[in-house]
Amino acid sequence: MGRRCVFLIGLLGAVWLLASGHGGQQPPETAAQRCFCQVSGYLDDCTCDVETIDRFNNYRLFPRLQKLLESDYFRYYKVNLKRPCPFWNDISQCGRRDCAVKPCQSDEVPDGIKSASYKYSEVANNLIEECEQAERLGAVDESLSEETQKAVLQWTKHDDSSDSFCEADDIQSPDAEYVDLLLNPERYTGYKGPDAWKIWNVIYEENCFKPQTIKRPLNPLASGQGKNEENTFYSWLEGLCVEKRAFYRLISGLHASINVHLSARYLLQETWLEKKWGHNITEFQQRFDGILTEGEGPRRLKNLYFIYLIELRALSKVVPFFERPDFQLFTGNKVQDAENKMLLLEILHEIKSFPLHFDENSFFAGDKKEANKLKEDFRLHFRNISRIMDCVGCFKCRLWGKLQIQGLGTALKILFSEKLIANMPESGPSYEFHLTRQEIVSLFNAFGRISTSVKELENFRNLLQNIH
Ligand code: FAD
Repeated sequence: MGRRCVFLIGLLGAVWLLASGHGGQQPPETAAQRCFCQVSGYLDDCTCDVETIDRFNNYRLFPRLQKLLESDYFRYYKVNLKRPCPFWNDISQCGRRDCAVKPCQSDEVPDGIKSASYKYSEVANNLIEECEQAERLGAVDESLSEETQKAVLQWTKHDDSSDSFCEADDIQSPDAEYVDLLLNPERYTGYKGPDAWKIWNVIYEENCFKPQTIKRPLNPLASGQGKNEENTFYSWLEGLCVEKRAFYRLISGLHASINVHLSARYLLQETWLEKKWGHNITEFQQRFDGILTEGEGPRRLKNLYFIYLIELRALSKVVPFFERPDFQLFTGNKVQDAENKMLLLEILHEIKSFPLHFDENSFFAGDKKEANKLKEDFRLHFRNISRIMDCVGCFKCRLWGKLQIQGLGTALKILFSEKLIANMPESGPSYEFHLTRQEIVSLFNAFGRISTSVKELENFRNLLQNIH
């Protein structure tokens, strides 16, 4: 019986080999496997696996998050797109129509949002009213209650961003404008070539804790960047401490996310009447196929999951801040604001229930002096990257680049403020830990982008399964 079974299996195997023409070889990988087969199972530096994230994100989180991001509170983002590039002069503004950003007319944005950048809670509103009244009376200092003075002072200190990972955009500047994110979606713009590479190059080469001597195989036009350098780069990366490796992986994950988006919302067809946007499978394969990218693509997709886990973790940590009864998603429309807060809390509790969160306790856990130095370096590198966004020569890319860097910076700030969040009073003003409306909007929208990318990977996987 046993022998017959072995014989049958052998026979079937031989028939398969003959039929497929692969005598002695492994079955060929499908297009989907070439992008995704290495993007499965456990993620380096994390205890979480890709399949669990996919299920959780695509079916439980993504639909609700999209709904929240469509609300007035989250769709309007104030940004200064006219800040000059602090690093070089020769920014060639991409003249493509798809790079243009249409700012909001002033009557489009709800008054509640326009009136003050941190006007999002009842306490905040009362404090601001007190301030405004005091200002009208010309007696700011004396007429403010002690509590108000203390809170405003703390908030100003906070907004001066001593604990912030991003260069705060100058939203009080006359050049800062509200942008409706729903009307200016992140998608293919045609921004590419040396100008775009220069930005990515500066980010990786100068801001990713990389020793000068090791060249990264980054610029596709550069000659002499071969396999050996690539290997050196990765052995260097492996040798890094977990924090520095994490920094590189966050940036690479963000880069991957942007490139997934532009492949998923690609300009497929343009007539004088309309434009058709959709999935461009070839574009996706060129960026993420294991063979076409010599193994790089799947690595980048893993980094996308890494940034997902970091932002997810930050959201789970900041729940107490949003749970406070004073907190409102203030737009001036009471009913809608209350509904949105309920949806926000629902999403946050769902996130908290995710079983395999990233354990950030291993970050900065070593020698205290060393850890503080590393944390400071981390912050400075990150702030530098937020300034580089002013050098992006395509306004649409600049808008989403700034928003996502601010969102990631806010996530890091949350992760490093765990004690302050834990010590927050349940009601009344929170002096120690505070998030501005800008930070809240960027945090959720940035996470919304990464969540959409993870969902798009499922779409691409399905599309690729249909081709050979
Ligand atoms: P690039 O993506 O420019 O990458 C340059 C090099 O970096 C590659 O050759 C590779 O060696 C390496 N690399 C690529 N991906 C990764 C990764 N994930 N991790 C590590 N290394 C990597 N274009 C749009 O159409 N829409 C947008 O909204 C948009 N937003 C952008 C925002 C910013 C801040 C920047 C800098 C660029 C943006 N772009 C956008 C341009 C887009 O990211 C690409 O630069 C462009 O499409 C050209 O792609 P590429 O294939 O030449 O390689």
